[in-house]
Amino acid sequence: MQSIWEKGFDMPGRDALRGDIEADVLVVGAGIAGVNCAYRMQRAGLKVVVLEAERVGTGATSRTTGKITAQHGLIYDLLTRSFDARTAEIYARANQNAVEEYAEIISREKIDCDFARADNFVFAREGGELLEAEFEAMRAAGLDAKLVEKTELPFPVAGAVGLSGQAHFHPLKYLRALAEKLEIYEHSRVRTIEDGVARTDAGSVRARDIVVATHFPFINAPGYYFLRMHQERSAVMTLEGASEIRGMYIDEADGGLSFRPQRGALLVGSGSWRTGKNPGNQFSELRRKAKECYPDAREICAWTSQDCMPQDHIPYIGKYGGSTEHLFVATGFGKWGMSSSMVAAMLLTDRIMGVSNEAADVFSPQRSPVHGFDGLADDVKETVKGFAKYIMPPKDMLEDIRPGEAGTVEYEGQKLGAYRDERGGIHLVSLSCPHLGCILGWNPDDLSWDCPCHGSRFDIDGTLLDGPAQRNLPDGEDET
Ligand SMILES: Cc1cc2nc3c(=O)[nH]c(=O)nc-3n(C[C@H](O)[C@H](O)[C@H](O)COP(=O)(O)OP(=O)(O)OC[C@H]3O[C@@H](n4cnc5c(N)ncnc54)[C@H](O)[C@@H]3O)c2cc1C
Repeated sequence: MQSIWEKGFDMPGRDALRGDIEADVLVVGAGIAGVNCAYRMQRAGLKVVVLEAERVGTGATSRTTGKITAQHGLIYDLLTRSFDARTAEIYARANQNAVEEYAEIISREKIDCDFARADNFVFAREGGELLEAEFEAMRAAGLDAKLVEKTELPFPVAGAVGLSGQAHFHPLKYLRALAEKLEIYEHSRVRTIEDGVARTDAGSVRARDIVVATHFPFINAPGYYFLRMHQERSAVMTLEGASEIRGMYIDEADGGLSFRPQRGALLVGSGSWRTGKNPGNQFSELRRKAKECYPDAREICAWTSQDCMPQDHIPYIGKYGGSTEHLFVATGFGKWGMSSSMVAAMLLTDRIMGVSNEAADVFSPQRSPVHGFDGLADDVKETVKGFAKYIMPPKDMLEDIRPGEAGTVEYEGQKLGAYRDERGGIHLVSLSCPHLGCILGWNPDDLSWDCPCHGSRFDIDGTLLDGPAQRNLPDGEDET
């Protein structure tokens, strides 16, 4: 299930790290966050090295919808109510500056990445009260918000709150252009970071400053990000022959529809479910909704993806742990990683260069927990449930599993996941997540085993698809 960006796209390959090298800054991870950070730090005059576990741009960034906007759903009213107006204002300015920074980089480096300015809108299908509150909060935060009653969408709306001058692009074309300017080693998974030295299986990088931009941070302590973030997935498809729109849209309702144009085609997204808890039928649901909107359009491709959801809706950008003065993190983008990753690049470059940045405290991973968010409790609950489930006896038996379906079985005292392929072969994997031992759940849309605690994912044979886990699952013997 390739995304529109991956289809037929060629990203030049790079060598793996061999031996021991030094740099001013090491960036771990070559998605949008790692590449933006590395590019800005290198431009600031630092010697930067990037280590990537797989290939450049093969993580979450290859499956985004690529909207670059400072309007993140109904975030400004939420921030104003749960923090204060100043937090909302700083968040707005940081993200709006990030949008402009993309425009500047793309123009300066002459990057051909389908970058186009567009208005962004959050719409409501019923009731408009939330939009008015968001409109007021956006204006108070310094954004030139507008309220409209009609949109270009093929259904009536109660209204929409919009922001002009936002943008969309082809994320992989952008990454390819910036990656060309950077010293990046692929197939170089960082296993440990200790005393300023990051080690892979075949070498090491010693650096004064290290930025962990691995989507979900892979070091559990310090930081404890697994206790304050989880991952959520959504489904996206590209349509040809749908009526053209110019703006970008997202429903204010959680899991509602999202739209953006891409060179004559249309990206439509929907759904939002916790990784490891897929109720199923996400693609058929998206197809049904898309058909309702655009009965004559043709599907080009469809895919799912996931992102890290921070407890209080603000990304974690700054020191990895309270006392790690030279180890930094950029994560928790809450499905708004295009602008947030640029915020990270700007903020962390300033931090490393000793320049003060007004947004540092707002995005600091060490900020005080805010009351009124039940996210932390939920994340801890899921983690604990995951551990507890490990000792529960299995309910399903192998013979009950039909082709194309999966179940759990007990095998030599271990809880295993079993998938029966269309030829009748059984694929067995251990269901204990190598990250923290939570029990994986079956994802029938993507045919993968997903962790409900922290969002790691594995294919039917246990190959790692998404972190924070850093290893494959041990498999049982495939029985065909
Ligand atoms: C359906 C969907 C639609 C979205 N649409 C939008 C949108 O329109 N606009 C928007 O702003 N955001 C959007 N997002 C969010 C956005 O896609 C993500 O926030 C963003 O891509 C995350 O980028 P990243 O660089 O943090 O992660 P990634 O792109 O996953 O990069 C992390 C990299 O780190 C590497 N890595 C991991 N562990 C190691 C290790 N130990 N050593 C070395 N390398 C390692 C991985 O291989 C990977 O390449 C969307 C999210 C979803 C789920």
